[in-house]
This record gives sequence, C-alpha cells and structure tokens, in this order.
Amino acid sequence: MKAAVCHAFGEPLKIEEVNLRPPLKGEVEVKIAACAICHSDILFAEGAWGGTLPAVYGHEAAGTVVAIGEGVTGLEIGDTVLATLLRSCGHCATCGGGHPAICETKYDRAHGPLTTLDGGVLEHGLDTGAFAERCVVDQSQVVKIPNDIPMESACLLSCGVITGVGAATNTAQIRPGANVVVIGAGGVGLNAIQGAAICGAAKIIAVDLSQEKLDTAMEFGATHGILASSDKPYRAVKALTGGR
Ligand SMILES: [Zn+2]
Ligand SMILES: [Zn+2]
Repeated sequence: MKAAVCHAFGEPLKIEEVNLRPPLKGEVEVKIAACAICHSDILFAEGAWGGTLPAVYGHEAAGTVVAIGEGVTGLEIGDTVLATLLRSCGHCATCGGGHPAICETKYDRAHGPLTTLDGGVLEHGLDTGAFAERCVVDQSQVVKIPNDIPMESACLLSCGVITGVGAATNTAQIRPGANVVVIGAGGVGLNAIQGAAICGAAKIIAVDLSQEKLDTAMEFGATHGILASSDKPYRAVKALTGGR
C-alpha cells in the first residue's frame, strides 16, 4: 500500500509503497477514508520529539474496518470507525485506575505492523501510521461511529475534538453553572468551548487574537469573546465574572 513516509526530519514526506502486515491478536485493520494533519504530526516530522526514521505519522483518522485479528470483540468488517492514537492495554496500573489515555504499557513503534518494502524498520508513528491507505492498530484505538458523518469531519474526533472536549469534561470537570475562560480559539480551544457548553457552563468566555476565531467560538457555544490584543483583556474577563 501507499503511505506518506518521513525519511528526514524537516523534509517533505514522500508518497511511496510500504508493507503493512495483517492484524495480529487484538488488532484491527482500517481502510483510511480521511486523516487530519494534527500539529503533533508536524512536530514529529520536524524532529521535535525524536523517534526512529523512516516513519509514517498520522493519528487523526476515520475509515472502515477491513480486517480483524483474533480476539477482537465489538467490531465487524465494514464498520465505520475512528482510528486514534489512544492505545491502552487495559490491565496496567493507570488503565486499571480508570485512566486508559495514559496507559503505562510500552509499545515499540519501530517494530509495529509497518516495514519498508525490503523488510526494514518503518516507525508506526504515534502508534497509528494513518498517513496511508490503511493502518493496523490495537482494538483499543478503534471506536465505532455512525456511517453518515462526512469522513473529513469525523476524523477530527480522533484527536482535536476529544482533546478539547476532554479538557473540559474530564480534566477541568466543569460543573453546571460555572464560568469558563478559554484562551485560544483554535482547533482544540473551540472544542474546549464546546465541552464547556456540554457541561452546562454559564458564561463561556473565549479569548483570542483573531476576531474571526472569536466569531467561530460563538458558534461552538461561547457566550462572550474578548480580543487578546485589546487593552488589559483580563479586566474585561473579570468584569464578566464578578471579579473572580
Ligand atoms: Zn493529534
Ligand atoms: Zn495500560
């Protein structure tokens, strides 16, 4: 199959043929319909976080299940799914403690399902390798979704949306009626705003340098928008929150 391969940090990715082995026990093969480009992919491709080369990045994907390994439950061939980077073993201390997103079990990306055509090492970037026609991932990384969501929108659920919504619902545990300030209304910030709205926040104040982004923030549930470039923007926030 074809994949976008990083051979040297900071250089353009090259589209070329690579090997993807079939799914083993507990793994699922997904035919990629859409994969967003997350800033983490860009940082990896620039070498900011190291890793083995060559590598295939891409971890914000949606597609269809085309093969299933032994022992996989709850998924069938033909299911429309997300393929995410969140791999969890289900039995380490953090998984057992209810925090599978920070699973402690190490995964060797250099010896995953990808190899070069001559059998050499090809890093399974971000545990997913979704800048490709297909990817093989652990079943914990696959989530079934309805099949009527446009794939180019659905793929965003795999990283940007859950990062922002999860920051509001899980990390901050926003209570109904709380006031929330979100600094930065980009991809993650907009979804933190959406998460705050889902949590029932009273005032949701977006702060950004761009009026256009503040306008978009209102569509995602912000009740107020403050330009960060305005004079002492924190005063405008405090005026809205009773000085708190
Ligand atoms: Zn990401
Ligand atoms: Zn674990």
